[in-house]
Amino acid sequence: MLKIEKAERLKQLPPYLFAELDRKKDAVRAKGVDVIDIGVGDPDQPTPDHIIDSLCKAAREPRFHRYPSYSGMNDFRKAVAVWYQKRLGVTLEPLKEVVSLIGSKEGIAHIPLAFINPGDVVLVPSPAYPVYKTATIFADGIPYEMPLLKENGFLPDLDIIPAETLKKAKMIFLNYPNNPTAATATPEFFAKVVAFANQHNIMVCHDYAYSEMAYDGYQPPSFLATPGAMEVGIEFHSLSKTYNMTGWRIGWAAGNREIVAGLGQIKSNIDSGIFEAIQIAGIEAMRDDDAWLAKMRALYTERRNVLVAGLDKLGLKTIAPKATFYVWVEVPKGYDSAGFVSHLLEKCGICVTPGNGFGGPGEGYFRMALTVGKERLQEALDRIAKIGF
Ligand SMILES: *Cc1c(COP(=O)(O)O)cnc(C)c1O
Repeated sequence: MLKIEKAERLKQLPPYLFAELDRKKDAVRAKGVDVIDIGVGDPDQPTPDHIIDSLCKAAREPRFHRYPSYSGMNDFRKAVAVWYQKRLGVTLEPLKEVVSLIGSKEGIAHIPLAFINPGDVVLVPSPAYPVYKTATIFADGIPYEMPLLKENGFLPDLDIIPAETLKKAKMIFLNYPNNPTAATATPEFFAKVVAFANQHNIMVCHDYAYSEMAYDGYQPPSFLATPGAMEVGIEFHSLSKTYNMTGWRIGWAAGNREIVAGLGQIKSNIDSGIFEAIQIAGIEAMRDDDAWLAKMRALYTERRNVLVAGLDKLGLKTIAPKATFYVWVEVPKGYDSAGFVSHLLEKCGICVTPGNGFGGPGEGYFRMALTVGKERLQEALDRIAKIGF
């Protein structure tokens, strides 16, 4: 009888807190409850038609049926450079400073393999998108969690990281606009990060997945636009959230050429790039003339306004987000994250995400996603008002 035993790296992973929640959600649904699911960060709107049309046309071209190039089609990488220049004023050399990714998650998961040796420390925020930590563990690195606290505007306090840790640290992950807290970073913070990186010889990996999902005319800053950033780091991006393309799996990393090349070398030994017809559609997406983006921002703004005003009326504390489609809410007195999330699910039929599922310092919060219509959000608020807490 074969004994199948998981590798240590899988045994080391933190427990998956959302598994229990998924089970409870299914149980509530099985009882016939119309669950309002605002737990998952996945846009509810379809990909724009012109992007789909461009895929359909490209899919019929035999030249796109062969293996794609490892680092991305030249035209795709050039489109990324044009996009950065036009939107953010950042100049990139497309063939040296951009690598295509099968969604930014893929690049985030692989980058520690290129640079982290056993025992190297990787600074990761907490609460956070879970991949920074798991990718570190997969590369035999040691994650050091930087708490994101309300009193610091959910930015990590770089000054309190112990000197011993900094000596061993080789990489830092940051993510602004932030999932799950919806916080944004200032150019001043990024300038401090560049100085920190230079002082301690730490590579910066900035996850910029929500760059275009912002409100009230606000443009969240790009890390790469910070003076000196190109010498110390890279930025991850994707078309997933911006153009409702989460299912398509297309993204990129851009920035420092040695870091980009290291990631590219890992990838060329693992995957074979992105289907070129999808890259053609990606180029089409980036050609967007702002009208569509404006429409998307208006839609989320309306939803945000309904939800934030309603939470306020219920006495649930939050900060109206300037960016992302998340609202990070404090759990009311007498509950912890898990307890309040269970209350909302079992008593109100509303599925939200417990803050501690993103890391210890997320305890005391829950995350709501603006991924249902405003009527549905209003219904969620009405249910909470009726049932109470
Ligand atoms: C959604 C998300 C991603 C992953 O996006 P893909 O490009 O679809 O892989 C990366 N980072 C954060 C913070 C996200 O929320």
